[in-house]
Amino acid sequence: MALSLSIKHRLLLSHLFAVVVLAGAFGAFVYYMAAQQVVERMRAQLANSVTVLAQSFNAGTLEAATRDPAAQRALVARLQSAARENADISLIYVTHRDGNADSVLAGSDAAAVSSAMAGDQDDGRLLAQAAVPGADGYAVGMQTRADTVGDTLYILRLSAALAFLVCVLAALVLSRHLARRFQISITDLAARCRALANGEPLPPRRHAGRDELDDLAREFDAMAGRLRNAAEGRERASIALREANEHLESRVSRRTAELEGATIKLRNEIESRVHVEALLAEAALTDPLTGLLNRRAMMEMLGQASVQLRSGEPGLSVIVTDIDHFKRVNDLHGHASGDQVLIAVASRLREFSGDQQQHNVARWGGEEFLILLPSVRLAAACKRAEQLRRQVAELRIGTDGLRVTLSLGVAELLAGEPLADCLRRCDQALYRAKDAGRDTVVAAQGALFATMS
Ligand code: GH3
Ligand code: MG
Ligand code: MG
Repeated sequence: MALSLSIKHRLLLSHLFAVVVLAGAFGAFVYYMAAQQVVERMRAQLANSVTVLAQSFNAGTLEAATRDPAAQRALVARLQSAARENADISLIYVTHRDGNADSVLAGSDAAAVSSAMAGDQDDGRLLAQAAVPGADGYAVGMQTRADTVGDTLYILRLSAALAFLVCVLAALVLSRHLARRFQISITDLAARCRALANGEPLPPRRHAGRDELDDLAREFDAMAGRLRNAAEGRERASIALREANEHLESRVSRRTAELEGATIKLRNEIESRVHVEALLAEAALTDPLTGLLNRRAMMEMLGQASVQLRSGEPGLSVIVTDIDHFKRVNDLHGHASGDQVLIAVASRLREFSGDQQQHNVARWGGEEFLILLPSVRLAAACKRAEQLRRQVAELRIGTDGLRVTLSLGVAELLAGEPLADCLRRCDQALYRAKDAGRDTVVAAQGALFATMS
């Protein structure tokens, strides 16, 4: 099972492990050596004490105690007194060798002497003996109390345990300090990574030292700076590109608007020119007073009609008519009334020709008009001229009820005849009508003329 531990806990556990292993092993060794030394020192002190005590006895006192019970009791009292003087001593006794066996002569505690004679006890009591100098076969024995060594070793163990505890606490504090140092550096680095990813300014570092983590943090800052510079460069380029695009788009739209405006203006100008040209063309072909074709336009119409005649169309006749004594109208009623008469006669001629397009009637001169009759032979043309003469004679023009008459010359364009010859013959017919007294129709039949009314 994989354990997921933080750096803090890993450091804590590793320090604890090191402290337990090293401090435990080293402490146990030191404790063992110290305990050995303590026991040896106590044993040497005991041996020294028992030697000093043995030197304080003399052979006579001891030999007397072997024979005299009173001397023996005195010896016991002396031994008990010596044992009481030293708190660490539990038993003092004197032995005497008789043959190969030692026997107890006197002891501070008679009950404990026999067991003490067997040597060191399992409960930690130490035993030492020393021969009494000058008293052959006599020796003094001394035994420590059971808890003397145990107390000393207990203090030693307690010190060792305290030292171990201090080591563990020191390890905990040290590992916590180191872990905190690692944690700060790593959380700082994580915060800086987050800020870099979000495009925010890097937060200040909480710790600055001279270890590998600081090298890593410095390298990261340098890399972040380069990345930020590159990103700012890209941003600036992108803004410049966007502005250039916007500028271009605005220029294009401005130019497009200008072009559209120019196109509209040009179209309007063309339309107005076409209109003006149409007006001019119309003005060029039309008589402004009567609205009929003018002489030039009629010459064009006559030319086209004569061409059609040559291609096989049947007949073509013309009527040239002039208002009789028109000068008198002007003279008697004014020029405006003369104009009114011209307009009224023109209107009648238009109705007469049945041509709504006004292509067959023209104002030929001042008060002179020409009527083109396509596909009409001379006889029919004469009849129609006669009808026209009567209709105009019946007109009552304006509020004054002015009356005018027409003189009319009729001619048919002969096959192969130039148009000008035909018009000349028609003119001559008109003159003949005038000569005949006016209000008359005269037809030109080749070189001959015939008055119709
Ligand atoms: P006739 O019977 O021989 O044709 O005599 P007339 O008086 O009609 O002919 P004349 O040639 O002597 O006079 C024509 C007059 O027509 C002269 C001129 O002032 C007049 N006239 C020509 N054009 C116009 C016009 O546009 N308006 C007006 N009111 N008068 C015009
Ligand atoms: Mg006239
Ligand atoms: Mg005239």
